Amino acid sequence: MLNKSLYLVFFVALFQAATLNAQPVDPAVEEKVQALLAQMTLEEKIGQMTQLDVGVVTVMNGQDIDQPFDMARLEEAIIHHHVGSILNAPSTPNNKAQPIEKWRSMTQTIRTMAQQTRLKIPVIYGIDAIHGATYTQNSTLFPQAINMAATFNQDLSFKEGEIAAREVKASGIDWNFSPVMDVGRQPLWPRLWETYGEDIYLASTLGSAFIKGHQGDDLSATDKVPTCLKHYVGYSFPVNGKDRTPALIGERMLRDVFLPSFEAGIKAGAPTIMVNSAEVDGIPGHANYQYLTTILRDELGFTGFTVSDWEDIIRLYSRDKVAASPREAVKMAVMAGVDMSMVPFNFSFYDLLLDLVHSGDVPVSRIDEAVTRILGVKYQSGLFERTEPAIVVKGNFATKEAESINRQAAQESIVLAKNEKNFLPLSKKASILVTGPTANLLSVMNGGWTLTWQGDDESLYPKEKLTLLKAIEQKTSGKVTYVGGKHYQDEINIEQAVNEARKHDVVVLALGEKPYTETSGNIDTLTLPFAQMQLANALFATGKPIVLVTFGGRPRIITEIAQQANAVVLGFLPGMEGGVAMADILFGDVNPSGKLPISYPRNTNDIVLYDHKPMESYDPNQYNPLYPFGHGLSYSHFETSNLRLDKTQIHSGEPIEVSVDVKNVGKMTGKETVLVYLNDVVASVTRPTKQLKAFAKVELTPNETQTLHFELSSEAMSFIGVDMKRRIEAGEFKVIVGSESVNFNVN
Ligand code: BGC
Repeated sequence: MLNKSLYLVFFVALFQAATLNAQPVDPAVEEKVQALLAQMTLEEKIGQMTQLDVGVVTVMNGQDIDQPFDMARLEEAIIHHHVGSILNAPSTPNNKAQPIEKWRSMTQTIRTMAQQTRLKIPVIYGIDAIHGATYTQNSTLFPQAINMAATFNQDLSFKEGEIAAREVKASGIDWNFSPVMDVGRQPLWPRLWETYGEDIYLASTLGSAFIKGHQGDDLSATDKVPTCLKHYVGYSFPVNGKDRTPALIGERMLRDVFLPSFEAGIKAGAPTIMVNSAEVDGIPGHANYQYLTTILRDELGFTGFTVSDWEDIIRLYSRDKVAASPREAVKMAVMAGVDMSMVPFNFSFYDLLLDLVHSGDVPVSRIDEAVTRILGVKYQSGLFERTEPAIVVKGNFATKEAESINRQAAQESIVLAKNEKNFLPLSKKASILVTGPTANLLSVMNGGWTLTWQGDDESLYPKEKLTLLKAIEQKTSGKVTYVGGKHYQDEINIEQAVNEARKHDVVVLALGEKPYTETSGNIDTLTLPFAQMQLANALFATGKPIVLVTFGGRPRIITEIAQQANAVVLGFLPGMEGGVAMADILFGDVNPSGKLPISYPRNTNDIVLYDHKPMESYDPNQYNPLYPFGHGLSYSHFETSNLRLDKTQIHSGEPIEVSVDVKNVGKMTGKETVLVYLNDVVASVTRPTKQLKAFAKVELTPNETQTLHFELSSEAMSFIGVDMKRRIEAGEFKVIVGSESVNFNVN
């Protein structure tokens, strides 16, 4: 093995060249933008940088009437304050999904009003369509991102992007605040489920596929919508696990772990980025010039515009105390690189920024820069040509085809974690007791950002969609009894559950979390609520076989009960088709293929991620989760073998080809994801013991073998060195697939 410290090879130039052109600017768009900018007054420019909540321009409780606008207020915003963007569904904070026709007429009213302005600059309307068109009734609502990650299926993520964009566009909406590209490495964090899990490569790959499906090759196409990467950067790693609280991320970790997924999203073409609402190492996201300008623009080559998160500019003053006044907060954020302010409830940003420019505290050049970027995205998205909704509803909204792709996504996202003595699949004749707080609700399978912000209003959920209980009832001819409440928090009669358990062949026990997002989802411990443990323990005491099913956004600790269960199926948030998909798996109509995109902890405080650094190796220091990253069983069995490389020696900068055979050695056709990990054996800074660098999902019939080929690029071998620059170091690397490993040398 070579001594790496003697053979340092720097590839900084190579990586920088790759990133600087990440987002080429279209000269035709640029020309139009400059021509328009030249005609704009300062007020018109600052208006473009202002985003308001729709509540500012609607009547109180406008969600329940057909035309919710207060026309005088709308005129005030668009004509007199030149507002460039509006967001949300009426009426914050209790926004709720609206019929599609209402959305189309609402956004049409805004378009018509914008046509009455001097320069007819369109308003860009944004929404959090994070798993489909959240706020449009009956839209196709996919599994949440944590589940999409568990599918390890880029094609499904691409299709989700296509469908989400089409349905958002059919609703007349122009912009989607999605995907979340924060990597989810803090399981307590209430937005873990909005991420693609803990792995950098998986998040980058699935997020990029979503963006490409959502935007296509031409953002101005009638069924395409610009995406927004969020929340740049470091938001997902709060020290205490609570939302919008400080993170401590050193520069190496930032560059190695948290930036790459955003970089991938930029390369995939996302034209907008939302800023981290919290702080990293003492600097609030909205005041961080180094992140928002030096890194984002100069290094990553991002040419689109940045938008603040909710009310976060004023928070530099009111919460973070890095600004002495609201005026200073506006100056700080704009000069750090925030282009648009999600104000969202008033014109304070507009007034203060106008004053700052008049007094010379913010240069007009900075305003021109921000407005150039905003107008660029509006032109690219075809908003200037559009005077009515871009696309008809029929054939583009809630189609049968979309429903079936959604169902496949849900099926592939469910993780069979334990199946003792092939207990599953269940017989369709078995008599089943179904119980537990997540057994008969759609909300627990959808999570936040579903029909409402918190996703918890069960009464709004479509009546024709099936909960787990309803899906089980539909599938089996056996007797099904339900013991449980109508709401998540209802107390379950344990005595009754125990009595019924005794009368049935098997118990399906559905535990987990209620829906939530953001600070409302903060919890103090990953431990399961006491009542759920009590119910579980009483049922286990009956000695009846138990299938433990979980739904929810975080890995709540189930160690004790999982040990006693005959089977454990982790559902996370599989979306509107989740009940059906779970039943498909429980009864063997579908062979499970989901794999964990996170390490499922064994204990509340033993949070170690799979790509951890080398550690003292005595027992308590091991990576010892309940289920490791990548874990997921099938009703079949797969074996990988014959792991090999096309070379054993490469020059620095060259790729290497990895090949491996995968065989279905079981009796049922199934899908298997092969995961390729890399370890840099010796490096000048500590490197993860292994890190995912490639994967492929294949379907195999019994006895079928396929040979898979993967190319590991030089980037896969690179890391952030002592000098904080990306580099590859010569020496030995180990490729790991399943139980095999092979080594190669870089010189
Ligand atoms: C969230 C963002 C979201 C925004 C607009 C914020 O509170 O942090 O993720 O896009 O609201 O709804």
